[in-house]
Amino acid sequence: MSRAYQNYIAGKWCDAESGQSSENRNPADHDDLIGTFPKSDQREVNRAVASAKAAFKEWRLVPAPKRGDILKTVGDVMTARKEEIAKVMTREMGKVLKETRGDTQEGIDTAYYAASEGRRLFGHTAPSELPNKMNISFRMPIGVAGVITPWNFPMAIPTWKIFPALVCGNTVVFKPASDTPATATTLVEILLEAGLPPGCINIVHGSGSAVGTPITQHPDVDVISFTGSSDVGKTLYSNAARQLKRVSLELGGKNGMIVMDDGDLNLALEGALWGAFGTTGQRCTATSRVILHEKIHDKFVEMLVERARKLKVGNGLDESMEMGPCVNEGQRGVVEEYVQIGKNEGAKLVAGGCRCAGSQYDKGTFYCPTIFTNVTPNMRLAQEEIFGPVLSVIKVRDFDEAIKVLNGTIYGLSSSIYTNDVTSAFRAMRDIECGITYINGPTIGAEAHMPFGGFKQTGNGHREGGWEVYEFYTETKTVYVDFSGRLQKAQIDT
Ligand code: NAD
Repeated sequence: MSRAYQNYIAGKWCDAESGQSSENRNPADHDDLIGTFPKSDQREVNRAVASAKAAFKEWRLVPAPKRGDILKTVGDVMTARKEEIAKVMTREMGKVLKETRGDTQEGIDTAYYAASEGRRLFGHTAPSELPNKMNISFRMPIGVAGVITPWNFPMAIPTWKIFPALVCGNTVVFKPASDTPATATTLVEILLEAGLPPGCINIVHGSGSAVGTPITQHPDVDVISFTGSSDVGKTLYSNAARQLKRVSLELGGKNGMIVMDDGDLNLALEGALWGAFGTTGQRCTATSRVILHEKIHDKFVEMLVERARKLKVGNGLDESMEMGPCVNEGQRGVVEEYVQIGKNEGAKLVAGGCRCAGSQYDKGTFYCPTIFTNVTPNMRLAQEEIFGPVLSVIKVRDFDEAIKVLNGTIYGLSSSIYTNDVTSAFRAMRDIECGITYINGPTIGAEAHMPFGGFKQTGNGHREGGWEVYEFYTETKTVYVDFSGRLQKAQIDT
């Protein structure tokens, strides 16, 4: 069944003034139309920002624990609707049901964590250097938050941004990715059902240029949280910098998994398969390079290829499937381009490297799990984010070379090492230049109450998740209370 979806602006569901809409189809079955969505532009952005700005006046004064209580209800409603959310998400972006259930659960965890932060949002007190004086600092909301999100985690990523923004007392203009507008709409419906006052959340559907850019440039948008590609992130950052907006960027990755000769190869194999081919490789934390110690290289490649060839690829709504399609034709095209680049660079194709064959794949954008060996660290295959089911294998002599190779890209999001040597594990924790390091686990997976984000060109130093995101969404107010009854001058000798 398909539905005509709308924007939600100033407390009302509405179409775009342009009168135009776009279709959203299932990447596993192009005959399956999920719905039509408004093609909005600057006009809707202006109205949404005005609505959020007006709602901010009252929302900032609602006690944070009460704001948190709404998020607790959001978690409850999401829990009740989890299966329905997961099914729509699989239909609109393709990843298999167990993963879309996980994506939804991450949103639920984020809601309950946000609810609990409503009762903390700690400030500081510190002693004054003067008598009869008290010093405190506390957090205040910033204003209107522009939230711009990608399609690969259509529920989890918006919740990482919207929930803390709201608990901190900000109001939101939300622009979801054009490939996943249905899941985003469900999230807004749930926020309203849970009792969020109208105006605190606004959703504007449309393209990056027609809706994303105007949000970035709007003078009344005070803070922007963006997750997406590095190219768009850089443009958005420079646009926002002209108005000195606060911006959080979560961008690309080229994550590496090291397997040492003392590692548990069976465990590492499960991690590599899940990390490389989960979500069809379309995760910012996807394992796109495995860096193998030379002593276990050949054996591990053999194990990996055998299992990768057997992965069940198909429509994610079928519970037995392990990998779904690429999100759209454009993304599959990128994968095909990189496979050709890999071949031209001299890497050896040992699995996949083609579209899935068979009539069951005709209506979708499927691509086989693909593995290249003989990859050297400077090849484009080993340097550039592909965002598809393509894994590069790099052989190294020892631990030091493994760390050097892992660190040798412009990105620094996630990383992992499989080793049973405690010294290697601790050196890896210290020396890997990434925001996330897993010991004996794959590069993917995040917990709502832990900071998430990357070093280097993966971002601009902020973190989503955990306590750090609450700092991002608040201004710090410092207050001095002088109860001495006389003029006291700091730093002036008396
Ligand atoms: P994208 O950059 O194409 O789009 C992201 C969002 O930005 C979409 O909503 C899009 O419509 C919007 N947008 C596009 N152009 C814009 C502009 N000029 N101004 C404002 N907004 C604009 O990314 P995508 O293809 O949706 O997602 C894949 C990318 O996201 C990958 O590079 C991946 O690594 C990254 N990602 C990063 C993380 C992380 O936490 N580091 C998590 C998930 C995805």
